[in-house]
Amino acid sequence: MKRINRQQALELFCNSDLLDLGERADLLRKELHPEGIVTFVVDRNINYTNVCINECRFCAFFRSAASPEAYILSDDDLFQKIEETLALEGTQILIQGGLHPDLDLDYYTSLLCKIKQRFSINVHGFSPPEVCYLAKKHDLTIRETIKILRQAGLDSIPGGGAEILSDRVRTIISPKKIKSGDWFRVMEEAHMLGMRTTATMMFGSVEEPEDIIGHLDVIRKLQDRTGGFTAFIPWSFQVGNTELGKQSAIKGSTAIDYLRVLALSRIYLDNINNVQASWVTQGLKLAQVALRFGANDFGSTMIEENVVRAAGVSYCVTKEDIINAIKATGFRTVQRNTYYDKLKEF
Ligand code: SF4
Repeated sequence: MKRINRQQALELFCNSDLLDLGERADLLRKELHPEGIVTFVVDRNINYTNVCINECRFCAFFRSAASPEAYILSDDDLFQKIEETLALEGTQILIQGGLHPDLDLDYYTSLLCKIKQRFSINVHGFSPPEVCYLAKKHDLTIRETIKILRQAGLDSIPGGGAEILSDRVRTIISPKKIKSGDWFRVMEEAHMLGMRTTATMMFGSVEEPEDIIGHLDVIRKLQDRTGGFTAFIPWSFQVGNTELGKQSAIKGSTAIDYLRVLALSRIYLDNINNVQASWVTQGLKLAQVALRFGANDFGSTMIEENVVRAAGVSYCVTKEDIINAIKATGFRTVQRNTYYDKLKEF
């Protein structure tokens, strides 16, 4: 299928019929994955702290250091969570947290070393806001910071913190957070160092269609140069318990909005192999529909998830639920690892 440009993407996104858009995305999905397989990974989200100085307006997860709900995960709790993940045949932990003013690089490197000394598990962790925060705190370059984390045991980097890669939007929804260029630089440096990362997008706040397409374009251009992204994961802003959600003009996205963005992402990002359906924000049923709107991966079983849950959205799903949901759509169901190597068919 021929690559589309920004103008064509805008036309498709704003004016095409939903089912036509879905059909086009599904065709591309079939071209990239002709074997009819839908994958998922068994992993656990571990949030080492909920204290964060960024105070993003769309985030219901963070607490101030003085809050009675503030925490830093103990080693014992961390190890127990990893043991439970391995017992469920998990292959990865997604470890992320807030920007805690008292945690420095030593905390992160020692955390990684302790994990790697004890467990054989892929550590997918520390998204660009955390990497940039550490770099700034220790007067290091982004490259130096990633190298230090990698040497301590970091395997791959999640694309969190991208939201919408438009500084106009970021200034409204997360004024203290890193800007688009910083997110981009972390991803670029990681790819140059040979690490794989994911790319994400959170839509449905104050962005315009042009911002969504600009975001996809930045990611496509970097992927053309580096090939370092394993997957793209779009999800919608969850309004509950957030400062931004209190603005009456922001109602959150509908299922249709989600499917349109997902399908457009599949079509535009013709150089990224995998697009994830987000059952965590959309629920299992819509995630099943997403498999016909461009998605070929069901993401993670998320033995634990805290960030979306803080916004009042909580789907209780087991590994079996995910396997059954994929099977019910007629696709072959395969457990994968972080790098999309296929491990086990169900
Ligand atoms: S989204 Fe991340 S960076 Fe922003 S306040 Fe929440 S935890 Fe902090």
